[in-house]
Amino acid sequence: MKKTIKDYNLYDKKVIIRCDFNVPMENNIILDDNRIVASLDTIEYAINNGAKVILMSHLGRIKEASDLINNTLEPVAKRLEELLHRKVVFIGETRGKKLEKAIKKMRAGSVVLIQNTRYEDLDGKKESNNDLQLASYWASLGDIYINDAFGTSHRNHASNVGIASILPNGVGFLIEKEVNILGRAINNPKRPFTVILGGAKVNDKIGVIENLVKIADYILIGGGMAYTFLVAKGLNVGKSLVDKENIDFCKKILDNYSSKIILPVDNIVANEISNSSLVRVATSDNIKDLDIALDIGPKTVELFNQYLIKSKTVIWNGPVGFSEIKNFSKGTKALCETLSKLDAITIIGGGDTASSVINLGFKDKFTHISTGGGATLELLEGKNLPGINVISDI
Ligand code: AMP
Repeated sequence: MKKTIKDYNLYDKKVIIRCDFNVPMENNIILDDNRIVASLDTIEYAINNGAKVILMSHLGRIKEASDLINNTLEPVAKRLEELLHRKVVFIGETRGKKLEKAIKKMRAGSVVLIQNTRYEDLDGKKESNNDLQLASYWASLGDIYINDAFGTSHRNHASNVGIASILPNGVGFLIEKEVNILGRAINNPKRPFTVILGGAKVNDKIGVIENLVKIADYILIGGGMAYTFLVAKGLNVGKSLVDKENIDFCKKILDNYSSKIILPVDNIVANEISNSSLVRVATSDNIKDLDIALDIGPKTVELFNQYLIKSKTVIWNGPVGFSEIKNFSKGTKALCETLSKLDAITIIGGGDTASSVINLGFKDKFTHISTGGGATLELLEGKNLPGINVISDI
């Protein structure tokens, strides 16, 4: 078991908390503050226990100087002030006198947010390459390091693995919750255990399929990735998305686990990806050359529901249709409705699946919506996450 924030006396200590404030933003306006809200339990615990709270996070990617302005964490500081009902001192730099002075002035319960850690990537990718000198400098600013950035825990960066290798450390409540819920679901699932996989490409989910096909009772496959499986079965999928390099992989999975893999029996097809395109339902053995299959059809929803209704654990990663467009979001919505009524543990993998179900109005209808995209996938692949691995065991 990993040490947590609760294993430390925080009073008057400078506690660096690595959060995941990597929220979608447009022109410095936060479009969705879920990740900020998800970090509050740990931050409030530190404040209430008299820590001097030093917050760090990355935001977006910094490749050139023009990326800086659009990826400042200043709007996050403002939103945090509203959510915490207290002053959050924002330092627009990742190192230097101003930052050191602000930390020196801190009192028990005060909060400082440091600028986007990836500003350091502009000069030799110091954050993303886990530069030792940078990690040592950041570690010198604090007494204790708490990693609560689940969404970054699959990365080996200076602001997670680097600092944690130097300071006494622990995980925060968000990482604890993510690992407990996802870990329990795959290591000791209540059965039947069903996985729904969708999204665009088979390639991104090979590791997940390989790991979960051994553990799960059923894998329901929808979304763009379903059509590579249908091709592997010898069916015509017209102009639907096909991941040519992975047809053989799909064949192998179908050969070895045919009773576990459930594929669409019908589909919503169109000639173009647009809300104004004419749509029709095509059974999977009757997709025409010009058709693009963009959602699962009503018979498939019924079929998937038969498996879901009897499930006790469901993990879902990847929308089962092109759900950003209303015409092709019905399948994803129908499955949301089914899951929201289940007496089961229901877990939504992060990234696109989380945005889809939230945008469709199902934010509070599941046991858990993960805050990680890549990190969740790697956990589902059965991999160890470096940002969590580095934390000391009790
Ligand atoms: P992923 O990041 O792999 O989970 O993929 C999510 C993306 O897959 C979303 O942008 C969906 O629009 C897209 N997607 C889902 N179903 C389809 C489909 N049938 N054809 C093309 N793209 C799809």
